[in-house]
Amino acid sequence: SLSDSLDKTFRNLRGVGKISEKNITDALREIRVALLEADVEYLVAKEFIAHVKEKAVGAEVLKSIKPGEQIVKIFHDELAELLGGDQVPLQLDGSGRILLCGLNGAGKTTTAGKLAMRLKREGKKPLLIACDLYRPAAIDQLATVGKQVDVPVYTPDASETDVVKVAREALTWAETQNGDVLIFDTAGRQEIDERLVEELKRLHAFLDPQETLLVADAATGQGAVSVAKHFDEAVGITGIILTKLDGDARGGAALSMRSVTGKPIKYAGEGEKLDQLFEFHPDRMADRILGMGDVVGMVEQVAGRIDEKDAMKSMERMASGKFDFYDFLDQMKMISKLGDMKGLMGLIPGFNKIKKQIPDAAFDPKRMKRTEAIVLSMTPDERRRPEIIKPSRRKRIAAGSGVTIIEVNRLLKQFGDMRKMMKSPKKMQKMMGQMGGMP
Ligand code: GDP
Ligand code: MG
Repeated sequence: SLSDSLDKTFRNLRGVGKISEKNITDALREIRVALLEADVEYLVAKEFIAHVKEKAVGAEVLKSIKPGEQIVKIFHDELAELLGGDQVPLQLDGSGRILLCGLNGAGKTTTAGKLAMRLKREGKKPLLIACDLYRPAAIDQLATVGKQVDVPVYTPDASETDVVKVAREALTWAETQNGDVLIFDTAGRQEIDERLVEELKRLHAFLDPQETLLVADAATGQGAVSVAKHFDEAVGITGIILTKLDGDARGGAALSMRSVTGKPIKYAGEGEKLDQLFEFHPDRMADRILGMGDVVGMVEQVAGRIDEKDAMKSMERMASGKFDFYDFLDQMKMISKLGDMKGLMGLIPGFNKIKKQIPDAAFDPKRMKRTEAIVLSMTPDERRRPEIIKPSRRKRIAAGSGVTIIEVNRLLKQFGDMRKMMKSPKKMQKMMGQMGGMP
């Protein structure tokens, strides 16, 4: 994954005060590979990298975050910004005409139904109009979709061939239907061809729609750029609806299309069902493109929640062999602040190795609560000098904290092991080294 490869790259960046052109080059190379792997078009990736480089170089390295993570974050934020940009809701206050265009199978007909359902929920009165005259089944398909969302559908005769004539008749029909938004479903092609473009241009010129939305399959990959460019040049799209994001599409198409047309991605289709059309989330898409789940948000969380001073104090005490149940409690609190730290650490460059050393149970919140209860049932003296906790005291602690003596014994053993480890300078050094992110 990206975070694995960046792990390596970023190790060299530690301790650098400012991000420089030199130290960012390797990281940028890694990220470019990730973008290309996510199906971002080559030139788009190149341009974007240059843009981010400009932003990143000279940026102060924040104390609380490692430079590598910071670069990923700059990247992520730029990606999200680029994907979201000047996002505007559908403009439907005038004629209320929406023209859907796109390649065959992109999801136009399905999306027409999804849009109708959404608009209806928002209090509009949408109408569906079938303008795909190439495939007889296409008209029936829209009729079925319309029935499912309970929206009137204009279905031309199967013998019609002139799409403008159909549209004109549909407008007359619409006047009798008392609707306020008209959604036009059009024909697609396997690839863009002249005839399709000409027909779409004529229809567009006749309708003068308020919204001309390109419906595009998120898995379009490298072809996304030429698809978006052609449709935009032909009719001037006003926005993009990305479909099939529920699949394993890597999302690069979104960036390419957005970047080439400059038009916003307005919705995302995330399933075949008609209620599975959602507002587009640039943030999530940026995560997806960078292939790192929610790592950036997690990094921010970690940076925000761990108090560096606290962490250092506890590390110093550990190193000096002074480690008692008070420190233990402090550490537990730190860990529990981090929430699901175990899952998180695997995602952050550099943390992988530490993660392996910590037992899963350490992050089980239920277990953590019980451990805390045990420590809280100890007297101050016992917390400071755990060696005095003999069997009779163990019995009292168990009763006080509502656990079994076995659990108390287990905790004391764990604690003893930790202490032993800390007394070994070699082991301690190794551990500190692995937590290398801390100054
Ligand atoms: P059109 O040729 O552009 O009209 O495409 P259709 O609306 O007929 O859709 C083609 C196929 O894609 C159908 O099987 C749809 O159910 C499916 N589809 C459309 N949108 C989505 C989506 O967001 N997710 C998934 N999984 N399938 C979709
Ligand atoms: Mg269709």
